[in-house]
Amino acid sequence: MLQQTPVSRVLSIWPDWVRRWPTASATAAATAADVLRAWGKLGYPRRAKRLHECATIIARDHDDVVPDDVETLVTLPGVGSYTARAVACFAYGRRVPVVDTNVRRVVARVVHGRADAGVPSAARDHADVLALLPNSAVAKQFSVALMELGATVCTARGPHCGSCPLSDCAWRTAGYPAAAGPSRRVQTYAGTDRQVRGRLLDVLRDKDSPVSRAELDVAWLTDVAQRDRALASLLVDGLVTRTPDGRFALAGEE
Ligand code: SF4
Repeated sequence: MLQQTPVSRVLSIWPDWVRRWPTASATAAATAADVLRAWGKLGYPRRAKRLHECATIIARDHDDVVPDDVETLVTLPGVGSYTARAVACFAYGRRVPVVDTNVRRVVARVVHGRADAGVPSAARDHADVLALLPNSAVAKQFSVALMELGATVCTARGPHCGSCPLSDCAWRTAGYPAAAGPSRRVQTYAGTDRQVRGRLLDVLRDKDSPVSRAELDVAWLTDVAQRDRALASLLVDGLVTRTPDGRFALAGEE
């Protein structure tokens, strides 16, 4: 849920979710449509489908227990290197680098004396953070602290150096040299295919039975070709299915 989504938004559904489905096997026993409906407007709904598949495999192959090592975690649906590392580190206390945008920026400034992190490189970024991780039981706390420092103090636009707990920072010592490349554009949501996909899923979530094509069509009248493309992609992703009589339903609900 937290992949590309802030904690504040996830908190609106997470407590009810874990009350309803406290284990992987409980999630696996739900239908894909139930899971998509509970996902609500959290966005990136493919994650909900992957989470359901992931729960099914954990229940079936791992005795209903989330694996604790990165190598096994990355074999699960929807779990990439970052999520696997976050689970291994934050849930199980493993000493593995967890590198997000905030961490990369802090390392670039503190260690390399640069304003921003530049192009990501998993091997280099992990090696950088591994070199900083304490070789002890507090590696987990260190990882959380590094991430929070980047999120709350060493922010992208205005680092609060006056309240920074670090006494040594290469970028500060060098007099804050400017970033080398152009600043990155902020991605907008309005008008994107993602927004259209969300509108179409809203229609299906609000109904207990399949809907007609016309009911879906009114969800997005701004750009008909874009709406058709969004619907086609939902069908390809397996989030929406077509019933034998030509109507549309959430996956598993036809
Ligand atoms: S001193 Fe400033 S630039 Fe350096 S890590 Fe702290 S907040 Fe970031």
